[in-house]
Formats: sequence, C-alpha cells, structure tokens
Amino acid sequence: MEKSILPIPTHLKNILIPKGDKNDEFFVAGDIACTCGNKEFYLSYLGAYENEIITLCEYEGVFYLAIECKCKECGQVHLIFDDNLHGWNGFVCGDESGFEGYEEFPMEKFKKLWKCPKCNDEHHEVSVAISSEGKEDFLENCEDTEFSEEDWVNAFSWITISTSCKNCGFIDKTWIDYETM
Ligand SMILES: [Zn+2]
Ligand SMILES: [Zn+2]
Repeated sequence: MEKSILPIPTHLKNILIPKGDKNDEFFVAGDIACTCGNKEFYLSYLGAYENEIITLCEYEGVFYLAIECKCKECGQVHLIFDDNLHGWNGFVCGDESGFEGYEEFPMEKFKKLWKCPKCNDEHHEVSVAISSEGKEDFLENCEDTEFSEEDWVNAFSWITISTSCKNCGFIDKTWIDYETM
C-alpha cells in the first residue's frame, strides 16, 4: 500500500510507521517511532483520569484532551493527538484563526505523566490507529473552504492509541479510544 493514500495526519507523517494488512484510505494502524529510530517513550496526557479512563478535562468552559510522548533516547517531544487541533472537530470545525485556549492554560495542573497501572513504570511503546471517512467525503464537505486537498488526512474521525509497558509487558489496546466528530 502506497503511504500517500493512507489517512496519516500531517503531524504524524514522520513518526507513524504503518503495519498490518488492514491499511487503506479509510484506516491506518502503526507504531510510533521517533525520528531518531527509538520506540520507547515517556507518555503524558492532558486531560482527566476517571474510572480508569483518560477523558477530557475542562478549564474555563473549554474542553481539553491531548497526548504527547517524549523519546527516551533523544528527548524529542511528539504531539500524538490534541482534540482542539486534530481530527474532524479540532481541525475542520476548529477556529480558522487557530486555537487560543493554551494562552492562559495552567499546563502543570492538568498535564500528567502516564505510569503503567500494573508496575508503575514510565517507559512505553505506543501504537496508533486512525479511521477516516476518506478523501472524497472530505472534499465534498469542505468545498469552498480554506482547506487544501491534501488536508483530508487531518480530518480523521477516530483515533485509538495503545500502550505497551516496557517493564512488565502490560498492554492497553484502548488507552485512548476517541471519536473526533
Ligand atoms: Zn528520539
Ligand atoms: Zn508495567
């Protein structure tokens, strides 16, 4: 499968390595690898942790959910998903002038390092699966807008992030399982 036809969002182009045989225009799954080649990360989430599920947090009437990972080898930080920037709601329905909700945002209050629920270790491998309504659907819905044709990959409808603990091997296949439209 040619990579250009897969719905890999622009911000993940360099770090999502597709794998498996289910990938097509409407679905892509793969592992996250840093541009240095390493696949071991410190994961953090910006959100709320309720009933063992990571969900949106609210600050001054705005809802937030964001996931980033920091490479254990080179320290680069990669944003994996931000509900206010990515996916159908964040990207297509977002503010044309850009999201301004981080200007006064108390990051340290809401951003938390993820630790394995079984062994408390901080090192994880990360996989991502993205579902999309496809290119045609995007072009039909976004006619006469400021978006370009290539933007269809950024309008994905669902993201699933799975984690694998490097210490005990605990796997959470649906660590984040989130509809974006
Ligand atoms: Zn790295
Ligand atoms: Zn563990």
